[in-house]
Amino acid sequence: MVKVNLDACSGCKRCMLACSFYRTGGFNTRFSSIKIYTDLGHRPVAFSLDACTDCKEHYCVEFCTLRALEVYS
Ligand code: SF4
Ligand code: SF4
Repeated sequence: MVKVNLDACSGCKRCMLACSFYRTGGFNTRFSSIKIYTDLGHRPVAFSLDACTDCKEHYCVEFCTLRALEVYS
């Protein structure tokens, strides 16, 4: 499964774009299994992984340049 470190996260939502591409072939954060919620200043305040299927590629982790995501077992 994927673990999120909000302290390291910038709120860029690249992980959400990557997951939506994995799931749908398109870039739309609405269809991402990982959700990073930001406040009005675009700062990350919460996340959810409720719909994550733990895909073996872990695209969300690959696309997080800040290494705010990691895989754990
Ligand atoms: S890609 Fe990384 S830094 Fe950007 S929103 Fe996702 S977890 Fe945060
Ligand atoms: S592990 Fe796969 S399914 Fe889960 S959020 Fe990341 S890209 Fe989406």
